[in-house]
Amino acid sequence: MSQDRSGRVAIVLGTRPEIVKLAGLVRLLGERSWVVHTGQHYDAELSDVFFAQFGLQPPLDALDVGGRTRGAQIGEATARLDALFTDERPAAVVVQGDTNSALAGALAANAGGIALVHVEAGLRSHDRAMPEEHNRVLVDHVADLCLAPTATSRANLAAEGIPDERIAVTGNTVVEAVQQLLPEPDERRDLLDSHGVARNGFVLSTFHRPENVDDAERLATILGQLGALPVPVVLPVHPRLAARVEGFGLRPRLDALHAVPPLGYREFLGLFAEAALAVSDSGGVQEEASVVKRPVVVVRRSTERPEVLGTFSELVAVGPDIGVASERWLDDPVAVHERLAAVPSPYGDGRASELALDAMAQRHLIGGLDK
Ligand code: UDP
Repeated sequence: MSQDRSGRVAIVLGTRPEIVKLAGLVRLLGERSWVVHTGQHYDAELSDVFFAQFGLQPPLDALDVGGRTRGAQIGEATARLDALFTDERPAAVVVQGDTNSALAGALAANAGGIALVHVEAGLRSHDRAMPEEHNRVLVDHVADLCLAPTATSRANLAAEGIPDERIAVTGNTVVEAVQQLLPEPDERRDLLDSHGVARNGFVLSTFHRPENVDDAERLATILGQLGALPVPVVLPVHPRLAARVEGFGLRPRLDALHAVPPLGYREFLGLFAEAALAVSDSGGVQEEASVVKRPVVVVRRSTERPEVLGTFSELVAVGPDIGVASERWLDDPVAVHERLAAVPSPYGDGRASELALDAMAQRHLIGGLDK
């Protein structure tokens, strides 16, 4: 390994949403960043295309910890990262969100006595059945700097006894990601044509959470509810969903849907901004809804993103409520969109990455930025 990694800021990521939400920081850090991909979800559709669309270099290091149990993945990634950071010591380690990769990065930083920064800190679903909830709580408590996207997330951290000097409120970095890659109207029209759908005349849907897709009956209900909606449903199929649909013999349920391979970020945002509605169990989609000003029906037991509930999002349980809520939003989509256009995003104005670096510099975790 070359010597030039020492003293850089190690950015540890392993899944699609982490690339989206760390792209701005990587760009601002430039030569001072050291991107390590754990390989949690490493394939062209979920990874390479995202680096390319954000104009980022491929990761300097790519580990290979995909396809294991949660414990094995966290353990293996922690050991591999610890070895990397022992070999060449970074100035700080940055992790994002609530994935196994984020927890592994946090543990490796902690083991090495290296400053740890947590981007998107302080989210809480208070749902202890979600592995992500445990990941995010653990990371927040070992982090030296918790970058909270909103006052709500800051309050969650404070309630758990994390002192004020370890917290900075920045907004969510997803806002600048959307601003960077949302296609212009011309390109959006082409996207609509290529998917055979009309502006405000379709639903965009994603499902990948274990609570929804790992149970045959729940998954059958979700696909059935989507298939019964009165407008076309575009469903980019996450690899986990594809595997479960096959495994449970649910392929015929896709016939009523416009199922497509996972989309690049530009394509996804372009369609989202033209959709009547999203129906999803994604975390990031709830935040993006507040930027593209489209509503999202969130199909989950709980959400760690209460800031958009009642404006851009509605939480529903698996069952007939999916159809009932969706049809209500679909009744007059243009009026809904006009109303939402006037509601500011609670996630800030697109300067979160810049504020994150300012907070790191103030705490001497990195040198000042030449902005
Ligand atoms: N996304 C995408 N292409 C797709 C589906 C989703 O680019 O086909 C983006 C979406 O806009 C969001 C992110 O992927 O930014 C969400 O990823 P995911 O739902 O896998 O994770 P979560 O946000 O739930 O952690």
